[in-house]
Amino acid sequence: MIYADFECPSHHITEHLIHWKQKKTVCPTCGKKAKRIISVAGQYAGNQDCEHVRSAVDVLLDKDNKAPDAVNLRKHPTRENLNRYLKDHSLSRMDYTEHGGPPVYHPPPEPDMRAVHEEVARKHFERQRVEVRG
Ligand SMILES: [Zn+2]
Repeated sequence: MIYADFECPSHHITEHLIHWKQKKTVCPTCGKKAKRIISVAGQYAGNQDCEHVRSAVDVLLDKDNKAPDAVNLRKHPTRENLNRYLKDHSLSRMDYTEHGGPPVYHPPPEPDMRAVHEEVARKHFERQRVEVRG
């Protein structure tokens, strides 16, 4: 038995304890057939009001942007509105650090050759020293 999320045609998202093979259930809110949806353990992805959307809206929109869709998105920062805004403006969430982005080459730092020489010399003299113990 596992916990899984289901969504009905009226977009009610509910969680049920089911056999892992089960793909459908009945929505407890409206009684329609609900299909199993992919969900991440411990996360609820059905809510419209979430922190990452508000943070994305802060980054995405200029404070002076008075376009109707920008004003609407700032007033109602929901997943749906953000997705619609991104689609309407042909924007993508993908950046260089995400899967599918081109690889980024970071050259290694230049070695500090003076420190390397000092270290080699110190080790050399350590090996060559003669100790007299009595
Ligand atoms: Zn429903």
